Amino acid sequence: MDLLFLGTSSGVPTKGRNVSATAVIEASGKAWYLVDCGEGTQHQLLHTPLSMRDLRAIFITHVHGDHCFGLPGLLASAGMSGRSEPLDLILPLDLHDWVRQSLAVSQTFLPFELRLHALETLEGWSSAHIHVSTIELSHRVPSYGYVFAEVNPDPRLDLERLQADGIPRGPLWGDLAQGRDVTVEGRLINARNYLRPSRPGRRIIVCGDNDNPELLAEVAKGADVLVHEATFTLPVLESSRTNYGHSTAAAVAQFAEAAGVPNLVLTHFSARYQNNPQRSPSIDDVRQEAAARYSGQLILAADLRRYHLGRDALLAEVL
Ligand SMILES: [Zn+2]
Repeated sequence: MDLLFLGTSSGVPTKGRNVSATAVIEASGKAWYLVDCGEGTQHQLLHTPLSMRDLRAIFITHVHGDHCFGLPGLLASAGMSGRSEPLDLILPLDLHDWVRQSLAVSQTFLPFELRLHALETLEGWSSAHIHVSTIELSHRVPSYGYVFAEVNPDPRLDLERLQADGIPRGPLWGDLAQGRDVTVEGRLINARNYLRPSRPGRRIIVCGDNDNPELLAEVAKGADVLVHEATFTLPVLESSRTNYGHSTAAAVAQFAEAAGVPNLVLTHFSARYQNNPQRSPSIDDVRQEAAARYSGQLILAADLRRYHLGRDALLAEVL
């Protein structure tokens, strides 16, 4: 699985960072999922190899505009690019009418079926290769994280079972290996009964805004990657009167260290953190604060950077 960051700034865009959006890409390298859709997400996508036709579903973490104002434009463009497959959109119930109204009053008629699902009551969402579940977080408004778990990764034929069930060796095995059902002497053989995962499934958690990382304690057990906001550093938080429901790099790093998560990706940085390390405060302050408390693979997300979760279970940048 890969992660491609489309927007890594909190609240407002900067010249170097757009507002929130993260793509989760299947191990196959094609089908992908979008978590949050800040304004301008569709422009960011133009700089990536991702196609709107391969987008399987959109997941919105909470109602704030920097996480959803890009939806109407992105959906309209998906329509104009000729998408015909239905699209699942999981988002807070309060946003459903807004999406429908935005499309209706602008006379945007999508050539595909848009299926709206209420985030608050979602009991899990699945495609052939990914299962997505939710975890409730803490913010000024209800906010959630999404857990992406691979289903039956890199399936291989279960040879023992094939032989035990008397399925003759030959081209039929090839069909089953490709996931195609076959018929043997009038008997329908379901491919999925003969495919076994050849490695453990990966699990990636992509969070919405959250001021209490401890809420992730259960779901983080055994997870490969945690993508979490680090809007502030400790000194900045201490000098301001309120934290608006966000986390510091220190709090997230401490949590990830205690939970034993091997890969931590920080994102959603306050616009005050500058890319130039000579300026203050800079994004280097965020890195240093987290690195002092976390010994795993630490990544500070940047727009249009892509990371691959390899066989060694470590995230590595795809250049
Ligand atoms: Zn936000």
